[in-house]
Amino acid sequence: MDVILFGPPGAGKGTQAGVVSGLLAVPHVSTGDIFRKHLKQGTALGQLARSFMDKGALVPDEVVVDIVASRLDEADAGGGALFDGFPRTVRQAELLAQRLSELGRSVDGVLNLVVADEVVVGRLSGRRTCMGCGATYHVSFNPPSTLGVCDRCGGEVVQRKDDEEETVRARIETYHRETRPVLAWLREHSAVVDINADQSIDAVEAELRAGLAAMGG
Ligand code: ADP
Ligand code: AMP
Repeated sequence: MDVILFGPPGAGKGTQAGVVSGLLAVPHVSTGDIFRKHLKQGTALGQLARSFMDKGALVPDEVVVDIVASRLDEADAGGGALFDGFPRTVRQAELLAQRLSELGRSVDGVLNLVVADEVVVGRLSGRRTCMGCGATYHVSFNPPSTLGVCDRCGGEVVQRKDDEEETVRARIETYHRETRPVLAWLREHSAVVDINADQSIDAVEAELRAGLAAMGG
């Protein structure tokens, strides 16, 4: 199945993606994670992406869509994918639909994490991310067992540059201006299940499990 995990930055997509992709038995495809991997490796793509990410702006559609198309060509994505942080513009949604249709597939469902801006600001500014494996934590809601150390891989847990307050505001504005309209487009083309993401991590997971079951996943 091809499923989109949709929602504003900080809604909890990355936190829930492991469980959802495990249930669907498809890889978790996060465009943000792909860009951060390139940044860490110092590639030209990473440099390009950084100039947009640091401002809270979107990386141009052609760049993002090429990356996703290559990812879909990898063997593990042959039976579907869980998209996180993509599509973020209507153009990306159209190009994804086109690419999937070339592969004889389509978007089977959308899990839409619904949460208010004030909640998202608190989540993003308290988010901490592992430099090693990308796992995310929150200083209050989901801290690592040892301050600054990743439970999963022992890597260093730090604040992402784009989680600093000024950039967080810009990212939320970008979301409302460019990404929210994608939801209306998705509602016209796929089954969208709305999930109340303003609950504990466990309660959100339970709603996602029910949502997936409802969409046949
Ligand atoms: P996204 O991938 O949608 O940008 P994340 O999954 O990284 O968001 O979550 C953003 C921050 O909020 C992280 O610090 C995470 O630990 C925390 N978080 C995620 N879900 C919840 C929740 N249901 N309640 C409280 N904090 C949460
Ligand atoms: P995320 O990890 O999803 O919060 O993404 C971090 C940043 O990467 C975003 O603020 C954008 O600058 C960039 N990015 C990630 N995914 C996309 C996308 N689908 N389209 C454009 N930019 C993206």
